[in-house]
Amino acid sequence: MQRRLATIRGDVPPKRHNARTIAALTGNPGCTRRAVLDGAGVDKPALAERIGFPARFGQSRFAISRGNAFEAQVKADGGAELLRLVAQRLGVPVPATASWTDLGVGADDTAARQRRSAEVLLAAPGAGDAALFDHPMLGLDVAGQRVHLEPDLVAARLAGRFHVVEIKSFPVIDGQADPSKVTAAAIQSAVYVLALRDLLAAHGHDPELVSHDVVLVCPRDFANQPVASLVDVRRQLLALRRQLDRMAGLDALLATVPDDFTADPDADPATLAAALSGVEARYAPECLAACELAYFCRQEARGRTAALGRAVRESLGGVADVDDALALAAGDRDPTPEQAEAAALLRTAGRLRAEALGVAP
Ligand code: SF4
Repeated sequence: MQRRLATIRGDVPPKRHNARTIAALTGNPGCTRRAVLDGAGVDKPALAERIGFPARFGQSRFAISRGNAFEAQVKADGGAELLRLVAQRLGVPVPATASWTDLGVGADDTAARQRRSAEVLLAAPGAGDAALFDHPMLGLDVAGQRVHLEPDLVAARLAGRFHVVEIKSFPVIDGQADPSKVTAAAIQSAVYVLALRDLLAAHGHDPELVSHDVVLVCPRDFANQPVASLVDVRRQLLALRRQLDRMAGLDALLATVPDDFTADPDADPATLAAALSGVEARYAPECLAACELAYFCRQEARGRTAALGRAVRESLGGVADVDDALALAAGDRDPTPEQAEAAALLRTAGRLRAEALGVAP
């Protein structure tokens, strides 16, 4: 299998995953195209660019520097304020003292840093003494490759349990944060929870010592005053585990992919686009925020009802094309037995629209 994956990516080294790309794997778990490209470690942003559909997401430079400043503020004084916030949110007494270990300093190479993180985190993992660990180096297996994760987060050990602490710069206004940002933070935190649990389990400790409640620290209202919230990531952990298992069983998916499928960066754009079209995809509008190939897949899915979103796809099961949907709504075409329910829905919608606009149905 590794040979085939290397051929798919044109024998260039695989692109490494990070927490963001692992989190994004759960965005469209039913998409074979994505699973194969991610499993092969294809550089999807470069591929999208080469075929003329560059990805358009990422943070602005202003947002990145604002985020860095907020993070530095929250972590100041050896994490004293952070410790108070986290303990209060968890409902445990604020410890008089806690150790602060920055695992991001001291060693240059990844393996040495990972070893040091493991040693420090595994020293009495269930101990009652409070400790904060900044920049721990963690790892996860993705499609047979070991992926190193270098989070900016803090792992807090309080009352004998670890909690992942994520510091984000999006604001909580009147107790509410942007739900899409909270969801993205939750799935990314779930990646770290999983990696920490794997680390504990691999060394014979109880993985449940890592809590599924992560602490999200954000600025409150329009000030820079930090506020902590608890986010339960059990659902995200399940989705992540399912997708990682699916990618571990990539052989079965590869069997459905044409033998000559290639994402070789040296191939010409038309060949790459044709090769991509030969692998099943499941475009949905959510792809725009989660997958670098979204603009290519959206163009390809134009005219298909599925491209209008999951709700439309579910309501119009059996009606795959927008033209068919319009013909059924206008009564210009007889539905097949499987389309009868969707056709009735479409005719009602067509009639209501005509009434509202005062035009002939
Ligand atoms: S953008 Fe395309 S490849 Fe990516 S998840 Fe969506 S359908 Fe799959």
